Amino acid sequence: MYYTENTILYLDGKWVKAKDASLTLYNQSLHYGNAVFEGIRSYSTEDGTLIFKAKAHFDRLHYSAQKMQIPLSWSTEELIRISYELLERNNLSDAYLRPLVYPGENMSLVAGEESHLLLCAWEWGRYLGDSLLRLMTSSFQRPNPKACFVEAKVTGHYTNSILATTEAKQKGYDEALLLDMYGNVAEGPGANFFYEKNEVLYTAPLGNILSGITRQTIFELAEEMGFEVREQLFSPRDVYDADGAFFTGTAAEVAGIQSLDGNKFNLPWEDTLGFELSRAYNNRVQKKEYKNFELV
Ligand code: PMP
Repeated sequence: MYYTENTILYLDGKWVKAKDASLTLYNQSLHYGNAVFEGIRSYSTEDGTLIFKAKAHFDRLHYSAQKMQIPLSWSTEELIRISYELLERNNLSDAYLRPLVYPGENMSLVAGEESHLLLCAWEWGRYLGDSLLRLMTSSFQRPNPKACFVEAKVTGHYTNSILATTEAKQKGYDEALLLDMYGNVAEGPGANFFYEKNEVLYTAPLGNILSGITRQTIFELAEEMGFEVREQLFSPRDVYDADGAFFTGTAAEVAGIQSLDGNKFNLPWEDTLGFELSRAYNNRVQKKEYKNFELV
């Protein structure tokens, strides 16, 4: 599903077939969840294939690597160039790109000098699908920001996400919504969360969440469209009485939500600001306007 006989990936400066690439089993990332990564999308546009907000994604990869003290010697500009070549070599246009920076052989708990860079891509539909989502408040909280760098995209953080999504699916829901350690709504396992009440949008402030690039794009679109967004703390109870809600993420894009813990939102999705923003987002990622976000 992620690769075929012919798929080519970029590994430590070389183009290699995915089926021939390998990794030491004594890798620090495999044993302890220590690696940093990104999730990026490219879109087929009237101006050819364009990677949405490539600079923001690779800047965040640098931020994550620096926080975890994993060396990353490629610049953002080089990484963008490699990404376009990766798409071209695999004949991909609407695609999902996955850069991963991981340490080498190291069974200790100390950051090492060695690191590796992997860049691969595949075709991936919208991560949470196209149907409205039924969420449950997770019994798992987001990681304590004093236990890790929550704004870094570290592989190990995703054990928390896997627990939350698995729990939600096993209980018959589509996805989880996680709280912070004080009981405020934080975010989804792989997406930021917004809800709407009386034509105002609310989303959690930074502190316990990943600073999503799609979340930022929603702020930009909302401003252009004259919608008010408030970054403030709120509880699941506030969400129960919402008019609408949605997740935002590169893989999920803008995904409409139907209910939280069985409490259905007041408006049909098509009548919400979220619906309008989801359409504006689709236009933004496929149109010229976002050339601004391309190579610096
Ligand atoms: N929160 C989490 C935990 C995520 O994994 C993601 C996906 N990267 C997001 C939010 C959304 O981030 P972005 O919009 O940058 O993809």
